[in-house]
Order: sequence, then C-alpha cells, then structure tokens
Amino acid sequence: MKLWDVPRLYRRAILIYFAAIVAPACGLVWLGIQSFERQRQALATLTAEKLAAKLEAELHTAAERALMLHSHPAAKFFFTIEHGMVVRPALYAPSPRSVPREFLEAERQELQMNRPDLALESYRKLMVEHQYESLALSRVARCLAKLGRQEDSRAAWRTLATTYPDERDPFHRPYGIVGAIEAGDIAGLYDQIAAGRWDLTADQAEYFLTQLDPHRSTPYLEQFHFARELSEQFRPPSTLHEGEIYNYSFGAWRIFYEVEAGDALSGFAVNQDWVNGNLKPEIEHALGIADTSGQDLRIYGGAIALVLVVLSAGVALLLRDISREARTNRLRSDFVSSVSHDLKTPITLIRLYSETLLRPDTFREEDRYGFYSIIVRESERLGRLVDRILTFSRVERGDQVYNLEEGDVAPVIARVVEDYREYLERAGFRLERAPAPSAPPVRFDSGALSQAVVNLLDNAVKYSGDSREIAVRLGAENGCVAFEVEDHGLGIPAAERERIFGRFYRVPNGSGKGGYGLGLFLVRHIMDAHGGRVDVESEPGRGSRFRLMFPRVSE
Ligand code: ADP
Repeated sequence: MKLWDVPRLYRRAILIYFAAIVAPACGLVWLGIQSFERQRQALATLTAEKLAAKLEAELHTAAERALMLHSHPAAKFFFTIEHGMVVRPALYAPSPRSVPREFLEAERQELQMNRPDLALESYRKLMVEHQYESLALSRVARCLAKLGRQEDSRAAWRTLATTYPDERDPFHRPYGIVGAIEAGDIAGLYDQIAAGRWDLTADQAEYFLTQLDPHRSTPYLEQFHFARELSEQFRPPSTLHEGEIYNYSFGAWRIFYEVEAGDALSGFAVNQDWVNGNLKPEIEHALGIADTSGQDLRIYGGAIALVLVVLSAGVALLLRDISREARTNRLRSDFVSSVSHDLKTPITLIRLYSETLLRPDTFREEDRYGFYSIIVRESERLGRLVDRILTFSRVERGDQVYNLEEGDVAPVIARVVEDYREYLERAGFRLERAPAPSAPPVRFDSGALSQAVVNLLDNAVKYSGDSREIAVRLGAENGCVAFEVEDHGLGIPAAERERIFGRFYRVPNGSGKGGYGLGLFLVRHIMDAHGGRVDVESEPGRGSRFRLMFPRVSE
C-alpha cells in the first residue's frame, strides 16, 4: 500500500500524529538531553576544582618527602643551584685539574723526549705511591700503546676501568668509561651511562653517548635539556626562607625547591607521568570520581532508543490500522461491484424467460414448465442474495435482532437440507445424511439457523473441487447440539482457518468461485448471538468440516 492510496482522513491522522506526538516527543527528548548535559557539566566543573585542590595538596606532601629523601617517584630530576648557577645536572665540566708535580719528569720523558720506554718506568714507580695509582696506570697504558704493546695497553686500561671506575682523569672523565672505551670493553656501557651510573656533565654525556652509539637516543640526556631551560628561565624571588617549600612553573616543567645553607637552592622537576598515571587516579579513586562519560552516553542512547521504539511502534500501529482500513475499503467496493453483477444475472434470466412466456408462441407444456422453474430458481437465488445483503447491512449497523425460541432444530435443518437437495443432485452431488429425527431442545432463531445452514452448504458445493460427496450430520454431545457439514474438497490452509470468519475475507487464490467473503462472517455472527460457536477442521486437498454448536437448554 502506498501513502497516496491512503484516504485523506488517514493522511490527516498521520500528520496529526507527527505534529502532536512525534515532534513534541523529539523536542522533549532534545530539551531533556540539553538540561542533563548542563547539569553534568556543572558537576564536572565542581569535581574538577575539588580534584585540582586535592592534587595540589598531595603533590606538596610528596615534594616534602622528595626533598628530604632525595629520591621519590614524584621527582623526575633533582637539581642544585649555587650562586645562581645550575651545578647539578652540570652543563659544563670544571677546568682541567693540573697533574701532580711528581709527574712532570715522567711527562717530559714521554712527551718532549719522546721516550715512552723511559716514561713507562717512571710512571710505574709513581704507581707504587698509592694516591696516584689510577692516574699513573692510565699513563702506563698510554705508553704501552706508544711502544706498540697494544695487548698490554688494553689490559692496563681494563684494570683501570674495573679497579677505579669512579675515579676521574684530569678532565674529570670517569676511568670506568674512558678505560672501558680504550680497552674496547664497551658492551653494556651505553646503558650504564644512560642509567646515570656516573654523574656526568652535559658535554661528557653527549660526547660519550654519541661515540658509543650515534643513532640511539636516551631520556638521560633530557635532564640536561631541563638544566639548560632551568638556567635560562628560572628566576627565583629575591627573598626566600629556609625550611619552606616553593614551586615554580616554566615551559612544560614544574619544579619544587627549597633554600639550603648559604644561597644554594635544591629541588626537583615534577614527574608529570607519575602525577597523571598514579597520583591522579589514586585521588580520583579516593574521591569516588569515576569517568562517567560512557555511562552518560548509555543513558542518552537508551533514552533516545526508547523514544524511537515507542514512536516507531506508534507509526507501525497507525500504518497497520490504515492498511487494514484501506483493505476493507477496497474489499467493500469489490463487494459492491460483484453484488451488482450477481444481482444482474438472475434478473436478466427472469426477464428473459418472462418475456419469452409473454410471446404469443405456443410452447410445449414441458418447455413452459422448464421456463417457469428457471424463473422460480432464479428468484429464489435473488431472494437469498438480497437476504444475505440485508442481514449483513443490519449486522453492520447493529440492528440485526434474533428471535430465539426454545425448540428442536432437527425439523428446521431437515427442511433446509431437503430444499437444498434438489439443487445438489442437479449439480451431481451425493448427499449423505445421518438421520436424526430430533435433537435436545436449544434456543434458536429459525430464520438465522436456516441461513447459517445454507451458507455452509453453499460453501461445501463451491469449494468441493472434483469431489461430489457432501455429508451433513446432527447430533448431541458435551451439552451441545452439533450440526456439521463435511466436504472432501479443497480444504483450508491452517493459517487461514481463523481469518475466513472475517468480514469480506476470502482465501487468496482460494478457488476463483464467486463470493463476497460474507457467508462465514454471518455464520459466526449468528452463532455468537446464539451463545454457541462455529468450528472448522480442515486439511488442504482433503476437505473441511464445519460444525455449528448450540448450547443445550439446561433442564
Ligand atoms: P465466500 O463468499 O467467499 O464463500 P465465505 O465467508 O463463505 O465467503 O468463506 C470465506 C472463504 O473461506 C472462502 O472464500 C473460501 O476460500 C473459504 N472457505 C469457506 N468454506 C470452505 C470450504 N468448505 N472449503 C474450502 N474453503 C472454504
């Protein structure tokens, strides 16, 4: 069914439905969501303020501990500032230390006389004096290399790196690094440096790390970037009090610091990852703040889905009603046109034979009899048709009245069946009748009962297909008087068995026999009025059995 097939009245109903229900409902949902969202945002702002205050307090406590212990997950880098200069992490190495006086002679032999052999001996002697041991050993290693004794030289550097890893050469470079590089033992050295094993200056760290692996980068170098930014951007206030903790932000950094004895400052850069990953979740948990955005989304989605479901159900119901109504309207107009057609046929025949009889020709007696019988048969048919239509229209208007009287249905049914028998036999049917001369008393309207019986017999004839057997039975059972009509014809599909009692309903592609879909509708109406019922048992292709059940009058 298309929308333009829908009568104007229903189009208006749809419009009203949309204007009065769908549009306001959508509007209300929209307003509801808006106000819900505003409330949610207000709550979120409040919560965010509370969270920020708590976070600040917790961070301050963490800072106290970090400054005291000099290690804490809240701290990313510690720093020290002396005389306004960042000394840790150190950006530059102090100027080189001068070598001790005792080394001057040995150095002269090595560097000026170019006699590494003599120098080697001198350095070895100096090694015995414990305080110069590492410096002398480094010079021994250097001379051995100059003398071409590479293996011995490497062994000396190795000893230096393993025995005095934390001592430094005159340029402040740890022997642990220099020795290992000279000996070629660099496995794992990069990682050791990157892990902060030695306190290096920015220059040293950059130099060694690029020498060991020019392609790698390490967060260890980040502390020097921090130190550079710190020295450029950090300007502490001129009056600071000992024992107090201050904080300051610059660039992406935040620092906590305190004054130490003299004018030294020490502090740390906050580890933002720890704050976001540990401290914040902990506080949120403690405050009972959960991320509610997913939940909100589900609530919104649920509300909208519910409204949509209800609206769609409304639209579906409306369309169903409209399509039913449109179908009934179509059936009604089909009904009118086929009734007109069916009225015309008997009228034409009656007229034709009446005119024939009126002609002055003389007809043989049996022809005349034949013509009269046709006129009688067709007028009966006409009468039945008009009866059915009148009954239907009374039923539709609610004017149909039944005069129920107590009595025996057997003679009424016998008379109808008997009247019908001739018609059946002419059509080649064999009628099987179970003789029941009388039945227990019931209350019934004999006109209506006759009509119900005729309708069932009519159907049995129309839908018998090739079968020519019809049976009628009357009996009493379970407090009822039952009359049944059985045929062995087309049968009715299970899905249609209830619908056939509907107004104008005809099984689609059922049989092609003429009809209006009113016969069974009237039968059911009649049986309802009698306080009884009509049942059907049927098997497609094997036939059907319709039964009228009348309740017995209680004695
Ligand atoms: P109709 O005027 O079409 O016969 P009815 O209300 O009497 O109207 O019957 C409704 C439909 O039920 C029929 O169109 C037909 O398809 C089906 N029907 C009724 N009686 C029988 C029967 N005895 N055998 C098979 N189909 C039947």
